[in-house]
Amino acid sequence: MSDIIQLLPDHVANQIAAGEVVQRPASVVKELLENAIDAGATNIKLLIKDAGKTLIQVIDDGKGMSATDARMSFERHATSKIQKAEDLFNLCTKGFRGEALASIAAIAHVELKTKTPEEELGTCIKIEGSKIVSQDFIATAKGTSLAVKNLFYNIPARRNFLKSDTVETRHIIDEFQRVALAHPEISFLLHHNNNEVYHLKGGNFRQRIVAVFGSKMNEKLVPINETTDILTIEGFVAKPEFSKRKRGEQFFFVNNRFIKSSYLNHAVVNAFDGLLEQGAHPSYFLYLTVPANSIDINIHPTKTEIKFDNEKALYAMLRATVKHSLGQYNVAPVLDFNRDANLDTPYHFKSTSKTASVPKISVDPDFNPFKESNPKDTSNTFKREKQTESWEALYTSVDTSQTTTESLFEHQEAEKTKKTFQIQRKYVMSLIKSGVVLINQSLAHQRILYEQFLESITVKEANSQQLLFPVKISFSSAEIEMIYTIKTELENAGFSFDEFTKDSITIKGIPVSVTESKINIILEELLNEINLEVPDSSFSHFDIMAKSFAKTLSIKTGTLLSEKEQESLVNDLFSCKEPSVSPFGKATFKTLTLLQIDNLFNS
Ligand code: ADP
Ligand code: MG
Repeated sequence: MSDIIQLLPDHVANQIAAGEVVQRPASVVKELLENAIDAGATNIKLLIKDAGKTLIQVIDDGKGMSATDARMSFERHATSKIQKAEDLFNLCTKGFRGEALASIAAIAHVELKTKTPEEELGTCIKIEGSKIVSQDFIATAKGTSLAVKNLFYNIPARRNFLKSDTVETRHIIDEFQRVALAHPEISFLLHHNNNEVYHLKGGNFRQRIVAVFGSKMNEKLVPINETTDILTIEGFVAKPEFSKRKRGEQFFFVNNRFIKSSYLNHAVVNAFDGLLEQGAHPSYFLYLTVPANSIDINIHPTKTEIKFDNEKALYAMLRATVKHSLGQYNVAPVLDFNRDANLDTPYHFKSTSKTASVPKISVDPDFNPFKESNPKDTSNTFKREKQTESWEALYTSVDTSQTTTESLFEHQEAEKTKKTFQIQRKYVMSLIKSGVVLINQSLAHQRILYEQFLESITVKEANSQQLLFPVKISFSSAEIEMIYTIKTELENAGFSFDEFTKDSITIKGIPVSVTESKINIILEELLNEINLEVPDSSFSHFDIMAKSFAKTLSIKTGTLLSEKEQESLVNDLFSCKEPSVSPFGKATFKTLTLLQIDNLFNS
């Protein structure tokens, strides 16, 4: 047999390598921003078109490249940042693998313009799928501009795999925020489709955090500061009452690099011990500085996971420092004297805790859409003229197999006997011909609201109520950008907007089933859902939106329902298209036949 092993051509090798480094437009953003920082830039601009699918461009005022370096920079393993293996253990740059530009150039159309401060003329190089198309001398500003167009143009499978623009934009904004938070002294600009999303001026950590997350963040921050031989910790945690129901604003930076670490996260969460409601996640922005030779960054291609020499000690110090600061800010509960001595730190707590009070996390009192109190209250979904007939029609014509639920109920009850019962403020029991049906009130209501929203969103006939006084809500720029990308869908759902500014949105109309006091939470939850990202391309925003609204607005376990409300719930549930499951796939009701009940007694 003849020999069969060949070396892969460079462009193929590069395409394969690109798979590791470049998962999506946001990965390109990260690499280019980091290169600009490594080049010593003080001003960095990021320009995005169509969630990065059309264009990702980073313009910096850093040190630029000579013509030869410009050409070299696209070679695989070409880097100016390390020379020998030992350098790996003393890194102070973001990059060092020399792979990013080679990888990106293998799977996109790339245009590089760069000039060093010393030279008169700069260099312009165009590359498509690793092939140099042109190289010219050009007049250009000092620094580097790298434009990446049509990402994955030559790997359709990867391109098709990209998520919706909303999701990809979210990823880009995440990367941008991480880099911007890690380098508050550098000024950053982000434009998406020619809209300015962020304009961050150089400043300190606090100013940067507030600029990124909106002015409402300022009052939430508790400063953290500690210096020991092996570690400096700076930054902020958010007061426990501002913790989130979803993980979100949790940032660790180690030597100015954003990293993920569930171990260190655990240390912080642990420091909040007793201060957080169950299921709540604290927000934090923590900047750790350790000797460069005490960490290994080279364990992950995207460099977001690192290995610490001295993990246990870091854990202990981080936990103690955060706990200490929370205590100083009078937000910690009484000191726990039973604390694990192994986790103690070299310094002593100041006992300022005498006056410490247990903070309360205020929980929204449960919204009850069934409440009949206010006749003008349009939030009552069960009172508004429901298109029960149309739902029934839908339901019978679409799925005949389910029509049985309709005849499930006794029809002869003209006499006024009690037909429904509420059990433990959680279930509604209703009598049916063959026995009883047990309904989970919260899940059932989710199903009802979900179908109502889905209908009003997709039928595009917004059931909107105009607000007497438009409501202005502040959001971070990133949140506003996200809301902007789903503006049309929100309008279909019944929202109407007055003004989008850089840090607020003015809302003048809302869906009929939403109360004014819920606008904030409903939009916040929606952003959370979108961030969680599960959707593949077959899922529309409509669906995410309807699910999110239904979840936020549904009556919860623990809500007492009047008999009338119970009956409405039962009727509305069984006029749904898919009454048996919640929008998240959980069973909404179970039936118990007389036979099954009999069997309970016969065994
Ligand atoms: P790495 O960053 O790991 O060195 P890259 O492929 O990202 O690898 O970049 C290769 C080289 O190109 C860098 O080492 C650097 O010398 C040069 N380079 C890349 N981007 C810039 C930039 N914005 N300004 C100046 N030099 C750059
Ligand atoms: Mg790099």
